[in-house]
Amino acid sequence: MALSSPLSPRRASTGRARAYRPEAVLAQLPLPLDDLPFRYERGMHLSGADLWLDPHTRRPVAYVSHGHSDHCLPHGQAVATPATAEFYRLRTKRLAVTELPFNQPHRVGDREIELFPAGHVLGASQVSVITSDGRRLVYTGDFKLRQAPCLDAAEVRECDVLVMECTFGHPRYCFPSLEEVDAQLCAFVERCFEQNLIPVVMGYILGKGQEALCLLTRAGYSVAVHDTIVRVAQVYERQGVSFGAYDTLNLASVEALRGKVVLCPPHLRKEVTAPLTRYRTAMLTGWAIDPSARYRYGVHEMIALSDHADFPELMEYVERAKPKVVYTVHGGPGFATHLRDQGIEAYHLAD
Ligand SMILES: [Zn+2]
Repeated sequence: MALSSPLSPRRASTGRARAYRPEAVLAQLPLPLDDLPFRYERGMHLSGADLWLDPHTRRPVAYVSHGHSDHCLPHGQAVATPATAEFYRLRTKRLAVTELPFNQPHRVGDREIELFPAGHVLGASQVSVITSDGRRLVYTGDFKLRQAPCLDAAEVRECDVLVMECTFGHPRYCFPSLEEVDAQLCAFVERCFEQNLIPVVMGYILGKGQEALCLLTRAGYSVAVHDTIVRVAQVYERQGVSFGAYDTLNLASVEALRGKVVLCPPHLRKEVTAPLTRYRTAMLTGWAIDPSARYRYGVHEMIALSDHADFPELMEYVERAKPKVVYTVHGGPGFATHLRDQGIEAYHLAD
């Protein structure tokens, strides 16, 4: 398909924010719809490749950026990194996965695609697509630029068209460094031990559970890990990540938990804390930045460990990728508005 977009930088004509109207987004797209290198319909359909990128519904052939459940639908054929393929098989029970390691060009239809690290969870990838006229499109999937304790660092590649997530696309989301998060987590554990309380740290089964395990074992704590997080940690270990020694949580012997940190997913908190008489809870999430989050999550402490980019990282990504046009997904329309305020052509693709 011929693409008529000029390769020179496209800038919005006004520095003022445009009013956002979801129904107007398609009409605002900077290229005629037939010339876009993708079609957006609950996921991106790559023109010329018959390949969907992270579709929200079942599709015949789909690239799956990472192993979180909202991305792992049972497609006819999936394309994913080897680690994501393992999570995909576990979640969907489907075996039809084309495994594509990082940095290995692969032909799909008349498009060349290449996966590279997203820094989000184990195996999470971004995808670079070369269109028929040589332009580069990058879709980030979920990503973060801060170095996670047990993951490949995310890469940023220059591109013409950038499709990026913007979950934390508001300036108030500025996360602390990993060192600060680590110090906050250790301080929480120490306060609990001083008061003879069991520290219960909560993180999601895939991602923050393993990051927390890595931080806690590195700090020298003895950790009792819920089985659901252990099973995912074993996938990390099979892929070469080492956590050191830890125990699987056994709630039948609560006395044995004295002096240990309990690590569990938030949705199993009631079950885990029911037999514990003296404990305190801490939740690991980027939403910790919101003042009301502690009450919303119903925990004693919030620690801003996130597997997504914060606002400064989203801006850094755009500056380093130097795209001619940006499309945002997830989050709200505010980040695209902010980019347009900075003179960058940007549009939000509503789900
Ligand atoms: Zn995710």
